[in-house]
Amino acid sequence: MTFPVQKSEAEWQSVLKEKGAEPGALQVTRHAATERPFTGKYEAHWQDGSYHCICCGNLLFDAGTKFDAGCGWPSFSQAVPGAIKENVDLSHGMRRVETVCAQCGSHLGHVFEDGPAPTGLRYCMNSASLDFDAKAS
Ligand SMILES: [Zn+2]
Repeated sequence: MTFPVQKSEAEWQSVLKEKGAEPGALQVTRHAATERPFTGKYEAHWQDGSYHCICCGNLLFDAGTKFDAGCGWPSFSQAVPGAIKENVDLSHGMRRVETVCAQCGSHLGHVFEDGPAPTGLRYCMNSASLDFDAKAS
C-alpha cells in the first residue's frame, strides 16, 4: 500500500518531536507498537474537538464519537469517512483489523465489531497516534 504522504524514519522522528508527541509515538505510528493501556493522554480525555493523525494532521475522529470502552485506550464509534484504511493483521496469533491513516500510513490501532450502536464499531486507538484539536467556540 502506498500513501500520499511519504517521509523517511528520520523525517517522521523530527515531525513527532516538533509536535511534542509522546516518547513512544515513533514506535507506535511507524512500527505498529501498542502503548500500554491506561497510559495514553487521551484515554480519559472528554473535551469537545477533533482528533488528528499525529504524523500528518489528517482529521480522523470527532470527539463526539469517543466513548468509554473501559479497555484503557481511546475508543471511537465512528471514523471520519475516508480518513482511515484497514488491513487484516494476523500477528500475535489473532485475527484483527489494523487501522492506519489513509494519508500517511501511520499505525493508529485496531477496529473491533463490539462497539455501540449505530455503527457497532470500536476504533481502539493509541493516544500516541493522535493529536487533539479543541473546537473553537
Ligand atoms: Zn497521517
